[in-house]
Amino acid sequence: MALPLLLRLTSSSSSSSPLRFRKPFRLLAYTLAYTFSTTSQPNPPPIRVSLTDSVGRAVFATRPILTGDLIHTAEPAICHPSPSSLHPVCYSCLASLPNQSTVSPFCSHRCHQRSKEYYDVEMKANWTDFDNYCRDKYLNSFQRNQGLKYPFLVKRLACMIISGVARSDSIDILQPANLTPEMILEMEEEFTLLRNAFTKALIEDEQIAFLTKQWYISVLARIRINAFRIELAGGGSYEDLLSSAFASVEAEAAVGNAVYILPSFYNHDCDPNAHIIWIDSAVAKLKTLRDIDEGEELRICYIDTSMDRDARRELLFRGFGFHCNCSRCLHGD
Ligand SMILES: [Zn+2]
Ligand SMILES: [Zn+2]
Repeated sequence: MALPLLLRLTSSSSSSSPLRFRKPFRLLAYTLAYTFSTTSQPNPPPIRVSLTDSVGRAVFATRPILTGDLIHTAEPAICHPSPSSLHPVCYSCLASLPNQSTVSPFCSHRCHQRSKEYYDVEMKANWTDFDNYCRDKYLNSFQRNQGLKYPFLVKRLACMIISGVARSDSIDILQPANLTPEMILEMEEEFTLLRNAFTKALIEDEQIAFLTKQWYISVLARIRINAFRIELAGGGSYEDLLSSAFASVEAEAAVGNAVYILPSFYNHDCDPNAHIIWIDSAVAKLKTLRDIDEGEELRICYIDTSMDRDARRELLFRGFGFHCNCSRCLHGD
């Protein structure tokens, strides 16, 4: 019944490849700025994104892909260090910084160059009230296991928009979470603190015209179910990377959180055929875990695969709002 929504990955030699969503029979097309990393990127990536009747958007292989192959890399649309991060990380890419690095919050000249505008916006404001409120809420929500909240990512996005490096609709393409009235009420306090921080910093009204309560809630609703918690695998062999990706990790291992566009189109499977890993920064690498046939759907696992079936299904429903019907769940494994 649904018309196929095809996402074409355009081949481009520049570091910025636009993705075009094309709906046949309707001249509705829009482009979003999406940056692929230039490092060993299959070009174009061997995938297409289509709208399915059963699971909404899904990613399919356009050719056979071997086990362990890089499918593509992805730069974050937004990232932010974890409030509980134990070690200093780069403001821009979340790479580890030398301990006691107080000189610069950037790992490199490149990161400084590409983030300095929104870093300057962020540094203009006093974030004490917003940060304290959100940090307490983040830690409490984690302890109570009620799902993570990501107001820091909204703050980062707002700074990026004010500085002109991102658009206010830059993550509108992502699926939003269903919000209860209680959740919306909670977000209103954060929104007020965020907006106050900018107005007290004398940011011009027209620069924060986008920053309405509706915008804040809409962005956070998308971030809630699309943010990835980033744990860096570091160097080492591919086997090391595999085992660390599968290991059950503590929250403190996370260096930050990030939102991506293309990786968010991968559906979940408790027995995934692909995974997302981070080596030394927030640049994500999507890799296969098995040999993939042409036309096969690529799926990643959103949670720890070692949990039992009931725990997985409960967490997926609470965190992502769906009942997992993957073959592992259906077989009671
Ligand atoms: Zn960096
Ligand atoms: Zn499942």
